[in-house]
Amino acid sequence: MHGKRMKRKKTNLEIFNDEAVSGVVFKNRSLKKFIIRHINQSGNSTITDLSKDLGTSVPKTTSLINELIQDGLIQDEGKLDSTGGRRASMFGLVPDACYFLGVDVKKFHINFGLMDFTKKMIYQKEKVPFRLENTPESLENLIKLIKAFLGEGPSSKAQILGLGINLTGRINHKTGHSFSFFHFKEEPLAEIIQNEIGIPTFLENDSRAMAYGEFQSNELRKENNILFINMDYGMGMGILLDGKVYYGKSGFSGEFGHIPLFENEVICHCGKKGCLETEASGHALVRKFKEQIKKGFTSIALKKNMSIDDITMNDIINAALNEDQLSIELISEIGEKLGKGLAVLVNIFNPEMLILGGALSETGDYIRLPARSTLNKLSLSLVNNDTKLKISQLGEKAGVIGACLTARDTIIF
Ligand SMILES: [Zn+2]
Repeated sequence: MHGKRMKRKKTNLEIFNDEAVSGVVFKNRSLKKFIIRHINQSGNSTITDLSKDLGTSVPKTTSLINELIQDGLIQDEGKLDSTGGRRASMFGLVPDACYFLGVDVKKFHINFGLMDFTKKMIYQKEKVPFRLENTPESLENLIKLIKAFLGEGPSSKAQILGLGINLTGRINHKTGHSFSFFHFKEEPLAEIIQNEIGIPTFLENDSRAMAYGEFQSNELRKENNILFINMDYGMGMGILLDGKVYYGKSGFSGEFGHIPLFENEVICHCGKKGCLETEASGHALVRKFKEQIKKGFTSIALKKNMSIDDITMNDIINAALNEDQLSIELISEIGEKLGKGLAVLVNIFNPEMLILGGALSETGDYIRLPARSTLNKLSLSLVNNDTKLKISQLGEKAGVIGACLTARDTIIF
């Protein structure tokens, strides 16, 4: 008992360094990482399980385990509860060995989270006010807010192995370049932020990070072909094929919102006309809402003395959740238009599941049912019978969980 209370030795995080090592050191480091990955995927494991999967002898595995315990990365979790035979020790990851910081950047706020080594979120701060604009000031402000979060979080910077940041728009996650926001300099945005914060930084497209967060949540592990639709002001998509995130050549896959599906004169923020996003997105919702109010319709979303120009997507979502008729009608119209896009996806991918995520998914069946009905009407019935259409389990939390996991899994794997 006293042993547990004693302050643990400093964790040795050397195996996660990517500095070049060779020979025996390299081999041992790879084997130790393999053990961590194995425990990560299969849960607490015995030495017998590990040596079987590693292809190493039991004595060799035992010695690697002992080194990892010395390093403070894994711990003895006690004996396996089995009936008969010898009871073997189970080994698991040490939760506070290291941490991963996730930063989910939205249009008007940021969500922060800190995840421990065992994928548990230990500290979160949601809806920190922020304005995402493509200006140096907005980037400076983002960096300032990350520093502030680090200052108040429960762990020291040295223990945080990685920082994952989600941004909307075109992102090359391999090079760390952002092409839609903060591309003022030649060097990748991830590098600029990393130099400021001092933690290895990984940039990911927001929809893909949310999808990844959602895919990794336990209940979904059964399905291997999932499309995750992120319905925020814009619209994006994360694609999971055969259990793997699909990126495309440069990481630009999933630009679902910019499929030209409508004959309208609305100019999308991508510069083109008729994109799905011009009819089915938070931007579209706000635009339609303003049009209706100008026609004389009323809504509780528009509070007393509030200018129609200040109305946000969240005001309309909240009003819908409080039975506001105009908001509900507009959201259901968005759902119907969305269904047309989903019909395209279902015919192409034949997925097991479509997940509606992002802020608009908080309206639940108000958006899902009209989407399902249009989807059934427009896609091949044999194909759409295969596909479940669900609302995200994690809601907006998927983003920050995905950001932490992006950093964690890039480092561990
Ligand atoms: Zn567009």
